[in-house]
Amino acid sequence: MENQLSIYNSLNRTKEKFEPIHENHVGMYVCGPTVYSDVHLGNCRTFVSFDVIYRYLLSKGFKVRYVRNITDVGHLEGDTDIGAEDKIGKKARLEQLEPMEIVQRYSNGFHAMMRVFNTLEPSIEPRATGHIIEQIEMVQSILDRGYGYEKNGSVYFDTIGFAKKEAVYGKLSGRVIDDLLVETRTDLKHQSEKNHPSDFAIWIKADPSHLMRWNSPWSVGFPGWHLECSAMSTKYLGKNFDIHGGGNDLKFPHHENEIAQNYGACGCAPAKYWLHTNMLLMNGKKMSKSDGNSITPAQLFTGDSEHISKAYSPMMIRFFMLQSHYRSTLDLTDESLLAAEKAYRRLMEANGHLQNFKHSGGAATDEAYEERIIGLIELMYLNMDDDFNTPRVLATMFELVPEINKIQSKAVDLHSISAATLERFQASFKEFIYDILGLVDEAAEGANANEALDGLMELIIDLRQHSRANKDWATSDKIRDGLQALKIQLKDGKEGTTWSKE
Ligand code: AMP
Ligand code: ZN
Repeated sequence: MENQLSIYNSLNRTKEKFEPIHENHVGMYVCGPTVYSDVHLGNCRTFVSFDVIYRYLLSKGFKVRYVRNITDVGHLEGDTDIGAEDKIGKKARLEQLEPMEIVQRYSNGFHAMMRVFNTLEPSIEPRATGHIIEQIEMVQSILDRGYGYEKNGSVYFDTIGFAKKEAVYGKLSGRVIDDLLVETRTDLKHQSEKNHPSDFAIWIKADPSHLMRWNSPWSVGFPGWHLECSAMSTKYLGKNFDIHGGGNDLKFPHHENEIAQNYGACGCAPAKYWLHTNMLLMNGKKMSKSDGNSITPAQLFTGDSEHISKAYSPMMIRFFMLQSHYRSTLDLTDESLLAAEKAYRRLMEANGHLQNFKHSGGAATDEAYEERIIGLIELMYLNMDDDFNTPRVLATMFELVPEINKIQSKAVDLHSISAATLERFQASFKEFIYDILGLVDEAAEGANANEALDGLMELIIDLRQHSRANKDWATSDKIRDGLQALKIQLKDGKEGTTWSKE
């Protein structure tokens, strides 16, 4: 099929025809989680969005290398670049664990959650701590090209020098060099080591209490958070690659600084297309743990939250996420979940009917009717080609659902459409539901449902282990009692915890 895909490019703030750098190949880098706490639903929304994008690129026949990193060092409290504690280091200090134990625990939890949401694994999942050498080399290249300076063992990126020469600093986030220059005069005195307040650390000298540190030409220290993504995307996708993604909260400073670093190190733009997902809200407000306006994925699956009236299945939540466009905010409310659940069942039920239809060939078709059906099938692909517009895809599918139901109830004769059109109809629905949208028919597909259950149990066992490690006995008892009520037994053994169902 001809490639008609267009993508909204945050860098240019326009929708552009997607033309990969190397024909038929796509390199895509997505900023992964910082593994210092349980993955939250907002993160899941972003990763589900990129999963659908990945799946659609695959379905169009592209050979995709999808790189999604794990941030396990350098991401500081308050998302600042220097002077604050490392998020993972802090958790390790509080729990008296090795930082890598924290990283392993929350990476496991993240992977279990990604399986529960039926996302495909990325092609490469690099960790920042595994790429310290590459990061040191990149800092050196930035210094060699005159875009960095060292002060007291830390290395900073010279944003003003860079912005004057390359004129790309601020392009993604819309900051202009004049703003940065004004800030120079007003804020400089507050930033003792930096030449300019907008400069950011790319290598940070560690104080002796810092748990994660490495030798470098400048100090025993650790790399800056922004640097890891520049170094790992370059290593696995090259100096120029196709797509870079993440949540829109990462546009500034994280992505802006990534672009600066790549230019700074090699004089080239990293990604051709920048894609940003929008944030998850609950009841119209930003989902936030601190003011109680938050819900965990586990609470959604068990129904154990004041914000919802019942439990919702992971596939239902995935469907719910796909009902809004990745660039729009997604507002989670109980009513919208209830409505989505009904719609999800209606779609799955209709698909079950559709896949069972058997055409006996021959017979005269109703030309106008057939044309309408073909038009809607083609529209599903056109909608997806239009910046991965999943809500419009679903709306089109819901125009087809009543037609399936009419054929099912014999209000319309199946032979109003040709055998070839029926085949196309069946194949497109299958492709969209399972391969592109990544949904699983929980009711109809016992095997898949069991797989989801395995993933869920892995997650629940993981949550129980966390609560026990935190001495949160109330939660661990609640999990055990809740499972017992469902006739699920947990067995703790040397090799870990296993489960069985009566
Ligand atoms: P973090 O673990 O905070 O580094 O975030 C991992 C990914 O999740 C990033 O791409 C973030 O932009 C994204 N993200 C964080 N919070 C939300 C949210 N509330 N809604 C959607 N995406 C989010
Ligand atoms: Zn990143």
